[in-house]
Amino acid sequence: MELYDSIDKIKGIGEKKKQCFNRLGVFTIYDLLSFFPRRYEDRTKYKPISLISNGEYVCISAIIATEPQLVRLKKGLEIVKFSIADESGKADVVFFHQPFIRNALNKGDEVVFYGKVEVDGNKRSLVNPVFEKEEKSGTVTGKILPIYPLTSGLTQKAIYQAMESALIDCKDNIPEIIHSDIIKKYKFMSITKTYENIHFPSSFEGLENARKRIVYEELLVLSLALSQIRNKRTNNSGIRMYETDMSIFLNSLPFEITGAQSRAISDAITDMQSGNIMSRLIQGDVGSGKTLIAAALIYFTFMNGYMSAFMAPTEILAEQHYKTLTTFLSPFGIRISLLTGTSSDKAKIKNQIINGETDLIVGTHALISKDVQYKNLGLVITDEQHRFGVEQRTALSNKGAGSHVLVMSATPIPRSLALIIYGELDVSIVDELPPGREKVDTFAVNSSYRERLNAFILKQVKEGHQVFVVCPKVEEDEQSNLLSAEAHSRTIAEAINGISVGCVHGKMKTSDKERVMEDFSQGKIDVLVSTTVIEVGVDVPNATLMIIENAERFGLSQLHQLRGRVGRGKNKSYCILVSDATNEETKSRLKIMTTTNDGFKIAEEDLRLRGPGDFFGNRQHGLPQMHLADLGTDTRILKAAQTDADEILKSDPYLKEHELLRDKVKMFFDERTSTFN
Ligand code: ADP
Ligand code: MG
Repeated sequence: MELYDSIDKIKGIGEKKKQCFNRLGVFTIYDLLSFFPRRYEDRTKYKPISLISNGEYVCISAIIATEPQLVRLKKGLEIVKFSIADESGKADVVFFHQPFIRNALNKGDEVVFYGKVEVDGNKRSLVNPVFEKEEKSGTVTGKILPIYPLTSGLTQKAIYQAMESALIDCKDNIPEIIHSDIIKKYKFMSITKTYENIHFPSSFEGLENARKRIVYEELLVLSLALSQIRNKRTNNSGIRMYETDMSIFLNSLPFEITGAQSRAISDAITDMQSGNIMSRLIQGDVGSGKTLIAAALIYFTFMNGYMSAFMAPTEILAEQHYKTLTTFLSPFGIRISLLTGTSSDKAKIKNQIINGETDLIVGTHALISKDVQYKNLGLVITDEQHRFGVEQRTALSNKGAGSHVLVMSATPIPRSLALIIYGELDVSIVDELPPGREKVDTFAVNSSYRERLNAFILKQVKEGHQVFVVCPKVEEDEQSNLLSAEAHSRTIAEAINGISVGCVHGKMKTSDKERVMEDFSQGKIDVLVSTTVIEVGVDVPNATLMIIENAERFGLSQLHQLRGRVGRGKNKSYCILVSDATNEETKSRLKIMTTTNDGFKIAEEDLRLRGPGDFFGNRQHGLPQMHLADLGTDTRILKAAQTDADEILKSDPYLKEHELLRDKVKMFFDERTSTFN
């Protein structure tokens, strides 16, 4: 069996199991060896029976003291019961729903059990423990047990067996991708020992050392890949654009641009005139007017004779940007089209793009699909960029030779992660809100306020304003008592007379969603009940009240984004967080929302409370997916890897002498781009 053989070379893996492994991204033996445990269970702790205490997980080595009895309690409930003893004391062992155990164990057997202890008075027991006979112990007890991510059709045991034979045959052939100097410098183990210890650790020390090495390798590859993106950019010359009189555009606006908007626009224009490719991030809090900055730069690009592309994370947002940008830009004869996954006239629009018959194409990630080809693409803009990964951004900018790149984000990023996410970008910060914005008054209440809340909704509507209500779920289900958008919109409509209530959520057909959103922005709907589909960007300045139900379910940054949907016009606006959660952590999180409107401060608190993984959510973080490395906590290893990457590239810029590393970097890019085509 060789490293790059298909996994069905392993004894016991047939077509069916092979497909299960494939689903987990495991195709070759090497993939399998690189499939790491999600966590480990510490089954190393042995205790004498007299010392075990309630709730702890321990191994107990004991003799079965009474013959196992099968007891039928009521219909369908069978238990096997017996007692065990060691030199220090006695305990009961109980198994539910496993009648066969009566025959598997006998009085007098020496057995090692592992499980959770229950103590009631001076009665100790183990319920449903795992066990193995003393003479054969060491497989599921007395060790650090790896727990792998599973898929249906695969068990931990199947993975253990496959992993074991893969290790036996191939562990000595796993390539060392890092130089022996580096291995020495960090006192890493050999690659063989590393893989042995990550899968079947003999001690926590060994595990930690192995993990460090694998994390290091991952982060080294990441750092090298990011450096390559950066180098490519400075080596590739960009479309050189020429000075344009922007006053015609700026004078057409219904308002004066802010100083921060003006600075961001001139930063970008300077970049685009430099002859290098612009890669600029516009970071500004919700409502700081980033769309206008984009519009100004699209105008600039148009005046230079080039097309622009504008990518948004959701269809609703794309549609809205399409409208806003049309208002700003069509007076200048700029032709604008919209392309989303569900556009009915996709073929026609793609043709327009290919033939250069449009000047601005707005859309979702449909814009980066393979068959969309651009003519004269001068500027690509990604809105709410934290929703996209590096690679999606790159995919869009690769659509044009030398086209400039602008990304916009409302999520402040902690410094430690900024280097990875924005490593290749220059940054403009929009730290000024348009004048006259009042802070959104925020309150946290529980559901005993329901009637007052309804009265408040009615009051806002009577004054001619509109209301958002956000619920965590689309439909009702039996398991949870979270409010669903559908049910709650009916409840509100019944509770408050004389208002019109609409509902929008991600499971609706796009055309239906569009219609409801349209009705809301035209004021035909007073109260819009929705899921978080309206989270980013939606702009209805007449909305003055945002109610968030089950507010405990949302992260702080998300709450901040949601709150940003109101307070966008001239009128005093409010945000009410409804939650019946009573734990202190939730309360203090919601309290932060009531005390500040500053997105940066909220992001910092959020990161502090939840850690980086949760902070960015699972999918939407824009952070590359790592196997083992945790970009939030492995910061020291990250720093070391970044320094080493720079060092390596200095002496060997094309990794000619680091062939294996070069392959890994290439794999890193391949994995990343394949999903978007
Ligand atoms: P975000 O930065 O969150 O994307 P938007 O671009 O949606 O913010 O702008 C928020 C609102 O502010 C919009 O209604 C927009 O028309 C308005 N706006 C933008 N710039 C200005 C300005 N300079 N003066 C007044 N209103 C502005
Ligand atoms: Mg926006």
